[in-house]
Amino acid sequence: MIDFRSDTVTRPTESMKEAMLSAPVGDDVFCEDPSVNELEVFAADMFGMEKSLYCSSGTQTNQIAINVHLNPGGEVITSVESHIYKYEGGGIAKNSGASVRLVEGNRGRLTIEDVEKWINPDDVHYPITQLVSLEDTSNRGGGAIYDFEEIKKISAFCKLNGLPLHLDGARLMNAIVENGIDIKDYASHFDSISLCLSKGLGAPVGSLLIGRSDFIKKARRVRKVFGGGMRQAGIIAAGGLYALKNNVSRLKEDHYHAKELEGALKKMNWVESVVPVETNIVVVILKDYSSRDYLISELENHGVKIIAFGPGMLRFVTHLDISSLDIDKTISVLNKIRV
Ligand SMILES: *Cc1c(COP(=O)(O)O)cnc(C)c1O
Repeated sequence: MIDFRSDTVTRPTESMKEAMLSAPVGDDVFCEDPSVNELEVFAADMFGMEKSLYCSSGTQTNQIAINVHLNPGGEVITSVESHIYKYEGGGIAKNSGASVRLVEGNRGRLTIEDVEKWINPDDVHYPITQLVSLEDTSNRGGGAIYDFEEIKKISAFCKLNGLPLHLDGARLMNAIVENGIDIKDYASHFDSISLCLSKGLGAPVGSLLIGRSDFIKKARRVRKVFGGGMRQAGIIAAGGLYALKNNVSRLKEDHYHAKELEGALKKMNWVESVVPVETNIVVVILKDYSSRDYLISELENHGVKIIAFGPGMLRFVTHLDISSLDIDKTISVLNKIRV
Protein backbone atom coordinates (compact mmCIF):
# COMPACT_ATOMS: atom_id res chain seq x y z
CA MET A 1 0.00 0.00 0.00
CA ILE A 2 1.13 3.53 -0.77
CA ASP A 3 -0.37 5.42 2.13
CA PHE A 4 -1.10 9.12 1.56
CA ARG A 5 -3.74 9.38 4.31
CA SER A 6 -1.49 11.40 6.60
CA ASP A 7 2.15 12.09 7.42
CA THR A 8 1.42 10.45 10.79
CA VAL A 9 1.59 6.94 9.27
CA THR A 10 5.41 6.82 9.08
CA ARG A 11 7.23 4.05 10.93
CA PRO A 12 10.59 4.54 12.65
CA THR A 13 13.59 3.64 10.49
CA GLU A 14 16.24 1.16 11.67
CA SER A 15 18.61 3.92 12.78
CA MET A 16 15.82 5.73 14.65
CA LYS A 17 14.92 2.45 16.37
CA GLU A 18 18.57 1.95 17.36
CA ALA A 19 18.61 5.41 18.93
CA MET A 20 15.42 4.54 20.81
CA LEU A 21 16.64 1.16 22.04
CA SER A 22 19.88 2.57 23.41
CA ALA A 23 18.24 5.63 25.05
CA PRO A 24 18.92 6.03 28.78
CA VAL A 25 15.63 6.40 30.70
CA GLY A 26 14.33 7.51 34.09
CA ASP A 27 11.08 8.74 35.62
CA ASP A 28 10.08 11.85 33.69
CA VAL A 29 7.43 12.93 36.22
CA PHE A 30 10.43 13.44 38.54
CA CYS A 31 12.18 15.18 35.57
CA GLU A 32 14.74 12.36 35.71
CA ASP A 33 14.56 10.93 32.23
CA PRO A 34 17.88 11.87 30.57
CA SER A 35 16.54 11.33 27.05
CA VAL A 36 13.43 13.43 27.59
CA ASN A 37 15.58 16.12 29.20
CA GLU A 38 18.01 16.05 26.27
CA LEU A 39 15.17 16.40 23.76
CA GLU A 40 13.58 19.27 25.70
CA VAL A 41 16.87 21.18 25.94
CA PHE A 42 17.76 20.49 22.30
CA ALA A 43 14.38 21.77 21.05
CA ALA A 44 14.42 24.87 23.28
CA ASP A 45 17.94 25.74 22.00
CA MET A 46 16.97 25.09 18.41
CA PHE A 47 14.06 27.53 18.72
CA GLY A 48 15.97 30.03 20.86
CA MET A 49 13.29 29.69 23.55
CA GLU A 50 13.86 29.06 27.26
CA LYS A 51 12.17 25.69 27.75
CA SER A 52 10.20 22.93 26.10
CA LEU A 53 7.97 20.10 27.27
CA TYR A 54 7.58 16.66 25.67
CA CYS A 55 3.92 15.65 25.41
CA SER A 56 1.97 12.73 24.03
CA SER A 57 0.38 14.45 21.03
CA GLY A 58 -0.18 17.72 19.21
CA THR A 59 -3.71 17.85 20.53
CA GLN A 60 -2.27 17.65 24.03
CA THR A 61 0.31 20.43 23.47
CA ASN A 62 -2.35 22.71 21.95
CA GLN A 63 -4.86 21.97 24.69
CA ILE A 64 -2.28 22.54 27.42
CA ALA A 65 -1.30 25.89 25.86
CA ILE A 66 -4.95 26.94 25.64
CA ASN A 67 -5.49 25.95 29.25
CA VAL A 68 -2.48 27.94 30.45
CA HIS A 69 -3.27 31.06 28.39
CA LEU A 70 -7.05 31.23 28.92
CA ASN A 71 -9.35 31.52 31.91
CA PRO A 72 -12.83 29.94 31.80
CA GLY A 73 -15.08 32.29 29.81
CA GLY A 74 -12.11 33.83 28.01
CA GLU A 75 -11.86 33.77 24.23
CA VAL A 76 -9.30 32.66 21.66
CA ILE A 77 -9.21 34.17 18.16
CA THR A 78 -8.48 31.53 15.52
CA SER A 79 -9.33 30.47 11.97
CA VAL A 80 -12.54 28.54 11.35
CA GLU A 81 -10.28 25.95 9.69
CA SER A 82 -7.92 25.60 12.66
CA HIS A 83 -7.08 22.23 14.15
CA ILE A 84 -7.55 23.57 17.70
CA TYR A 85 -11.21 24.25 16.88
CA LYS A 86 -12.11 21.67 14.27
CA TYR A 87 -10.18 18.56 15.19
CA GLU A 88 -9.67 18.59 18.94
CA GLY A 89 -13.05 17.27 20.01
CA GLY A 90 -14.35 20.55 21.39
CA GLY A 91 -11.41 20.60 23.81
CA ILE A 92 -11.35 24.39 24.10
CA ALA A 93 -14.78 24.24 25.74
CA LYS A 94 -14.37 20.88 27.43
CA ASN A 95 -10.91 21.27 28.93
CA SER A 96 -10.77 25.02 29.49
CA GLY A 97 -14.39 26.24 29.55
CA ALA A 98 -13.36 28.87 27.03
CA SER A 99 -14.97 30.51 24.02
CA VAL A 100 -13.72 30.78 20.41
CA ARG A 101 -13.92 33.66 17.93
CA LEU A 102 -13.81 31.93 14.57
CA VAL A 103 -12.40 33.96 11.71
CA GLU A 104 -12.97 33.10 8.04
CA GLY A 105 -9.30 33.65 7.09
CA ASN A 106 -7.57 32.68 3.87
CA ARG A 107 -6.57 29.01 3.59
CA GLY A 108 -6.49 28.76 7.37
CA ARG A 109 -4.46 31.96 7.85
CA LEU A 110 -5.42 35.15 9.67
CA THR A 111 -4.41 38.69 8.79
CA ILE A 112 -3.56 41.54 11.13
CA GLU A 113 -6.92 43.12 10.16
CA ASP A 114 -8.74 39.97 11.34
CA VAL A 115 -7.05 40.13 14.72
CA GLU A 116 -7.63 43.88 15.11
CA LYS A 117 -11.27 43.46 14.18
CA TRP A 118 -12.09 40.60 16.53
CA ILE A 119 -10.48 41.65 19.80
CA ASN A 120 -13.45 42.29 22.05
CA PRO A 121 -13.86 45.71 23.64
CA ASP A 122 -13.81 45.97 27.43
CA ASP A 123 -17.57 45.60 27.80
CA VAL A 124 -19.41 43.22 30.14
CA HIS A 125 -21.35 41.73 27.22
CA TYR A 126 -18.31 40.16 25.59
CA PRO A 127 -15.94 37.36 26.52
CA ILE A 128 -12.47 38.66 27.31
CA THR A 129 -10.11 38.03 24.38
CA GLN A 130 -7.12 36.23 25.92
CA LEU A 131 -5.29 34.48 23.10
CA VAL A 132 -4.61 34.51 19.37
CA SER A 133 -3.75 31.15 17.82
CA LEU A 134 -2.20 30.68 14.36
CA GLU A 135 -1.48 27.47 12.44
CA ASP A 136 1.58 27.15 10.18
CA THR A 137 1.40 25.26 7.89
CA SER A 138 -2.38 25.11 7.74
CA ASN A 139 -3.72 21.60 7.36
CA ARG A 140 -7.20 22.58 6.13
CA GLY A 141 -5.56 25.26 4.02
CA GLY A 142 -3.82 22.50 2.03
CA GLY A 143 -0.43 23.00 3.66
CA ALA A 144 -0.43 26.79 3.16
CA ILE A 145 2.49 28.75 4.65
CA TYR A 146 2.05 32.03 6.55
CA ASP A 147 3.57 35.21 5.21
CA PHE A 148 6.23 36.01 7.84
CA GLU A 149 5.54 39.75 7.51
CA GLU A 150 1.92 39.09 8.54
CA ILE A 151 3.09 37.07 11.56
CA LYS A 152 5.35 39.93 12.62
CA LYS A 153 2.47 42.41 12.40
CA ILE A 154 0.12 40.14 14.35
CA SER A 155 2.80 39.51 16.97
CA ALA A 156 3.56 43.21 17.42
CA PHE A 157 -0.14 43.98 17.74
CA CYS A 158 -0.64 41.17 20.28
CA LYS A 159 2.30 42.45 22.36
CA LEU A 160 0.90 45.97 22.33
CA ASN A 161 -2.44 44.62 23.58
CA GLY A 162 -1.03 42.20 26.15
CA LEU A 163 -2.38 39.20 24.25
CA PRO A 164 -0.35 35.99 24.11
CA LEU A 165 0.21 34.48 20.65
CA HIS A 166 0.19 30.68 20.23
CA LEU A 167 1.37 28.75 17.20
CA ASP A 168 0.01 25.36 16.25
CA GLY A 169 3.19 24.42 14.44
CA ALA A 170 2.32 20.76 13.94
CA ARG A 171 3.99 21.09 10.52
CA LEU A 172 6.12 24.16 11.23
CA MET A 173 9.31 22.57 9.90
CA ASN A 174 7.58 22.08 6.53
CA ALA A 175 7.10 25.86 6.41
CA ILE A 176 10.65 26.61 7.59
CA VAL A 177 12.40 24.44 4.97
CA GLU A 178 10.42 26.30 2.29
CA ASN A 179 10.55 29.91 3.44
CA GLY A 180 14.10 29.62 4.77
CA ILE A 181 13.35 31.85 7.76
CA ASP A 182 15.69 31.50 10.74
CA ILE A 183 13.83 29.34 13.23
CA LYS A 184 14.91 31.44 16.23
CA ASP A 185 13.76 34.64 14.52
CA TYR A 186 10.46 32.97 13.64
CA ALA A 187 9.93 31.59 17.17
CA SER A 188 10.68 34.94 18.79
CA HIS A 189 7.28 36.19 17.62
CA PHE A 190 5.32 33.63 19.66
CA ASP A 191 4.62 33.00 23.34
CA SER A 192 4.09 29.29 22.82
CA ILE A 193 4.69 26.85 19.98
CA SER A 194 3.42 23.33 19.47
CA LEU A 195 5.55 21.15 17.17
CA CYS A 196 4.66 17.59 16.11
CA LEU A 197 7.47 15.05 16.02
CA SER A 198 5.19 12.31 14.72
CA LYS A 199 4.20 13.94 11.42
CA GLY A 200 6.65 14.70 8.63
CA LEU A 201 9.58 14.39 11.01
CA GLY A 202 8.87 10.67 11.26
CA ALA A 203 9.05 9.96 15.01
CA PRO A 204 6.56 7.39 16.30
CA VAL A 205 5.09 9.43 19.19
CA GLY A 206 5.01 12.90 20.63
CA SER A 207 4.87 16.66 20.30
CA LEU A 208 6.77 19.49 21.95
CA LEU A 209 5.39 22.57 23.61
CA ILE A 210 7.97 25.36 23.52
CA GLY A 211 7.98 28.67 25.41
CA ARG A 212 9.34 30.70 28.31
CA SER A 213 10.26 29.09 31.66
CA ASP A 214 7.23 30.44 33.53
CA PHE A 215 4.88 29.22 30.79
CA ILE A 216 6.44 25.74 30.65
CA LYS A 217 6.30 25.45 34.44
CA LYS A 218 2.52 25.99 34.31
CA ALA A 219 2.25 23.72 31.25
CA ARG A 220 4.01 20.88 33.12
CA ARG A 221 1.35 21.08 35.84
CA VAL A 222 -1.49 21.05 33.29
CA ARG A 223 0.11 18.14 31.42
CA LYS A 224 -0.01 16.11 34.65
CA VAL A 225 -3.67 17.03 35.26
CA PHE A 226 -4.53 16.03 31.66
CA GLY A 227 -3.00 12.62 32.34
CA GLY A 228 0.09 13.29 30.26
CA GLY A 229 2.78 12.72 32.90
CA MET A 230 4.68 9.88 31.26
CA ARG A 231 7.30 7.86 33.09
CA GLN A 232 10.22 6.26 31.16
CA ALA A 233 9.24 8.29 28.11
CA GLY A 234 12.86 8.57 26.98
CA ILE A 235 12.41 5.49 24.84
CA ILE A 236 10.00 7.41 22.60
CA ALA A 237 11.55 10.85 23.14
CA ALA A 238 14.80 9.48 21.65
CA GLY A 239 12.91 8.93 18.38
CA GLY A 240 11.84 12.57 18.52
CA LEU A 241 15.39 13.78 19.09
CA TYR A 242 16.63 11.63 16.23
CA ALA A 243 13.89 13.15 14.02
CA LEU A 244 14.82 16.74 14.88
CA LYS A 245 18.49 16.03 14.21
CA ASN A 246 18.09 14.06 10.98
CA ASN A 247 14.73 14.53 9.30
CA VAL A 248 14.22 18.26 8.87
CA SER A 249 15.96 19.13 5.60
CA ARG A 250 14.60 16.05 3.82
CA LEU A 251 11.07 17.50 4.10
CA LYS A 252 11.92 19.30 0.82
CA GLU A 253 11.71 15.92 -0.87
CA ASP A 254 8.11 15.48 0.37
CA HIS A 255 7.26 18.90 -1.05
CA TYR A 256 8.75 17.97 -4.40
CA HIS A 257 6.67 14.78 -4.41
CA ALA A 258 3.53 16.75 -3.56
CA LYS A 259 4.24 19.08 -6.51
CA GLU A 260 4.59 16.08 -8.83
CA LEU A 261 1.21 14.78 -7.65
CA GLU A 262 -0.33 18.22 -8.13
CA GLY A 263 0.91 18.31 -11.74
CA ALA A 264 -0.52 14.87 -12.49
CA LEU A 265 -3.84 15.46 -10.72
CA LYS A 266 -4.49 18.72 -12.56
CA LYS A 267 -4.58 16.75 -15.82
CA MET A 268 -7.29 14.34 -14.67
CA ASN A 269 -10.65 14.96 -16.34
CA TRP A 270 -12.43 14.30 -13.00
CA VAL A 271 -10.52 17.04 -11.18
CA GLU A 272 -12.02 20.52 -10.95
CA SER A 273 -8.94 22.03 -9.31
CA VAL A 274 -6.04 21.36 -6.98
CA VAL A 275 -5.40 23.75 -4.09
CA PRO A 276 -1.96 25.23 -5.00
CA VAL A 277 0.67 23.05 -3.31
CA GLU A 278 3.06 24.85 -0.98
CA THR A 279 4.34 21.98 1.19
CA ASN A 280 3.40 18.29 1.62
CA ILE A 281 -0.41 18.44 1.39
CA VAL A 282 -2.38 18.07 -1.83
CA VAL A 283 -6.08 18.90 -1.68
CA VAL A 284 -8.14 17.98 -4.73
CA ILE A 285 -11.56 19.42 -5.55
CA LEU A 286 -13.66 17.09 -7.71
CA LYS A 287 -15.88 18.04 -10.64
CA ASP A 288 -18.55 15.61 -9.53
CA TYR A 289 -18.87 15.59 -5.74
CA SER A 290 -20.67 12.25 -5.83
CA SER A 291 -17.57 10.53 -7.32
CA ARG A 292 -15.52 11.03 -4.14
CA ASP A 293 -16.07 7.72 -2.37
CA TYR A 294 -15.81 5.75 -5.61
CA LEU A 295 -12.43 7.37 -6.32
CA ILE A 296 -11.17 6.60 -2.83
CA SER A 297 -12.10 2.93 -3.13
CA GLU A 298 -10.80 2.65 -6.73
CA LEU A 299 -7.46 4.08 -5.62
CA GLU A 300 -7.37 1.67 -2.70
CA ASN A 301 -8.07 -1.25 -5.08
CA HIS A 302 -4.94 -0.14 -6.94
CA GLY A 303 -2.82 0.09 -3.76
CA VAL A 304 -3.14 3.82 -3.05
CA LYS A 305 -4.72 5.03 0.19
CA ILE A 306 -6.05 8.59 0.58
CA ILE A 307 -8.76 10.27 2.65
CA ALA A 308 -11.86 12.37 2.03
CA PHE A 309 -11.34 15.99 3.08
CA GLY A 310 -14.89 17.31 3.06
CA PRO A 311 -17.62 17.25 0.40
CA GLY A 312 -16.09 16.66 -3.04
CA MET A 313 -12.56 16.87 -1.68
CA LEU A 314 -9.66 14.44 -1.44
CA ARG A 315 -6.39 14.82 0.46
CA PHE A 316 -2.98 13.31 -0.31
CA VAL A 317 -0.13 13.87 2.17
CA THR A 318 3.47 13.05 1.24
CA HIS A 319 5.98 11.91 3.89
CA LEU A 320 9.11 9.97 4.79
CA ASP A 321 7.66 6.60 3.80
CA ILE A 322 6.68 7.74 0.28
CA SER A 323 9.50 7.28 -2.23
CA SER A 324 9.94 8.74 -5.73
CA LEU A 325 9.05 5.31 -7.07
CA ASP A 326 5.78 5.40 -5.07
CA ILE A 327 4.97 8.75 -6.70
CA ASP A 328 5.59 7.30 -10.17
CA LYS A 329 3.40 4.29 -9.34
CA THR A 330 0.65 6.55 -8.01
CA ILE A 331 0.69 8.68 -11.14
CA SER A 332 0.33 5.61 -13.31
CA VAL A 333 -2.60 4.45 -11.15
CA LEU A 334 -4.21 7.88 -11.53
CA ASN A 335 -3.85 7.59 -15.31
CA LYS A 336 -5.70 4.26 -15.26
CA ILE A 337 -8.71 5.35 -13.25
CA ARG A 338 -11.91 6.21 -15.09
CA VAL A 339 -14.82 8.04 -13.50
C1 LIG B 1 -1.92 16.65 13.47
C2 LIG B 1 -2.15 18.02 13.90
C3 LIG B 1 -2.18 18.34 15.25
C4 LIG B 1 -2.01 17.35 16.38
O1 LIG B 1 -2.51 16.12 16.15
P1 LIG B 1 -2.23 14.85 17.10
O2 LIG B 1 -2.76 13.76 16.25
O3 LIG B 1 -2.99 15.08 18.33
O4 LIG B 1 -0.76 14.77 17.35
C5 LIG B 1 -2.35 19.67 15.59
N1 LIG B 1 -2.47 20.61 14.64
C6 LIG B 1 -2.42 20.34 13.34
C7 LIG B 1 -2.51 21.44 12.34
C8 LIG B 1 -2.28 19.03 12.91
O5 LIG B 1 -2.25 18.76 11.61
